[in-house]
Amino acid sequence: MKPLCFSENLKHLRQSLPSTQRELARVLQVSPTTVCDWEQGKRLPSVEQALKLAEQLGVSVETLFYGEEESPTTPSGMPSLTELYKIGSGPSSSHTMGPEKACQIFQQRNPSADRFAVTLYGSLAKTGTGHGTDRVILKTLAPTPCTITFDPLTVDLPHPNTMEIFAYRGKDELARARVFSVGGGAIRFEGEAEAESKTVYPHSTYNEISAYCKEEGLRLWEYVYQMEGDGFEDYLMTVWRAMRHSIAAGLEDDGILPGGLNVHKKAKHLYHLQHVDETAETRTNRLISAYAFAVGEQNACGCPIVTAPTCGAAGVLPAVLYFQQKKGGYTDREICRALATGGLIGNLIKTNASISGAECGCQAEVGSACAMAAAAWAELLELSPDKIEYSAEIAIEHHLGLTCDPICGLVQIPCIERNAVAAMRAINAVNLSSFLSDTRKISLDKVIITMRDTGKDLHHRYRETSEGGLARIHLHE
Ligand code: SF4
Repeated sequence: MKPLCFSENLKHLRQSLPSTQRELARVLQVSPTTVCDWEQGKRLPSVEQALKLAEQLGVSVETLFYGEEESPTTPSGMPSLTELYKIGSGPSSSHTMGPEKACQIFQQRNPSADRFAVTLYGSLAKTGTGHGTDRVILKTLAPTPCTITFDPLTVDLPHPNTMEIFAYRGKDELARARVFSVGGGAIRFEGEAEAESKTVYPHSTYNEISAYCKEEGLRLWEYVYQMEGDGFEDYLMTVWRAMRHSIAAGLEDDGILPGGLNVHKKAKHLYHLQHVDETAETRTNRLISAYAFAVGEQNACGCPIVTAPTCGAAGVLPAVLYFQQKKGGYTDREICRALATGGLIGNLIKTNASISGAECGCQAEVGSACAMAAAAWAELLELSPDKIEYSAEIAIEHHLGLTCDPICGLVQIPCIERNAVAAMRAINAVNLSSFLSDTRKISLDKVIITMRDTGKDLHHRYRETSEGGLARIHLHE
């Protein structure tokens, strides 16, 4: 029998609606104190009240009292945005940055090793070559020799991005470790807490954050700065410089992307392709796309980019902010504030669902990036927390179910173009939210959980294995 967890479940379900204790009390025709007492575990509802409550919250009575079978516990708090925005080399945060970090740590722990061996499982095995996982592992562990084994057949894995690393000295095995690349370049050694993970934010839902900000009279970016502490704006300034640099470098570049698909770089072409009769709308879309392509192409070439929230989706947020800065003359400080708010949305998604294509498909990467960009642009416009929430919610809601199916495991098709489409969509989401925010029925928290559940339901072919969807297309046919 599962333990009774009625009070926590009730609070979580109510906040996800979202609804206040007072609103719920009104519907159930009880006093707000009664709801408060239920949530504090001071008493339980009657059978009639429980039935009504479950119906109102849209769950079964059993779920209300005992939770869902596989429902993960609600996280308490979130880590720093410095763990979300990382400056590193592409093309894949989970397939290059994560394994790179795992090897660096393992090598430091085993300085006397004269040989390493690495086995890649799951998505790392299936798309590792296209993503350059083997290349980055060999480079990181060099000059110590390393053999790499790809094992795509083992299916009973604790995480879709699993790797094992072995250290040897002569014939003796010195150490071994199983490591999970959990998305956005973050890793977790089996049996250890996530590397560098420290709780910085006391809240882990938008509902809680929004309520706190309203009570304290804070904008979302002020909340982020308050929680992150001194020096955080300097960090965001570095992030913004790196984003701008990748756009500038991408707009200068031409030629063919590496990997064998013979994909031509298009950012420079898009940037300069101006028709005489180009409308303002067309120009907007062309330039935003050029900036997104610029970052995506730099990423595909293994050049430095910023995870936002991942390498594969790194073009969406900078494209929107760069375009708006050039058009609207926003200062770098204002852009940093937008990055703070956009990052907060990415952090909520990472904490409550996933930003990993191998775990939840492309909805978790490009969908999350679109939500971050929408929130960031809404912040620049100084929209209310409700409108910012609605912008992000629209942006991710309409990516639900988006599959991850990179052709040949390369972060090129459909990834780069998808970044451009998501950047344009982010701006449309903000436009729509400013008209409709008073009428919405679905909260951002609810959509994030739905994205997680949809990701779990996605067939593994559509979760960065290159076995389904567009990845099955043979381009030469
Ligand atoms: S399809 Fe999406 S999730 Fe998959 S590699 Fe490309 S950008 Fe990442």
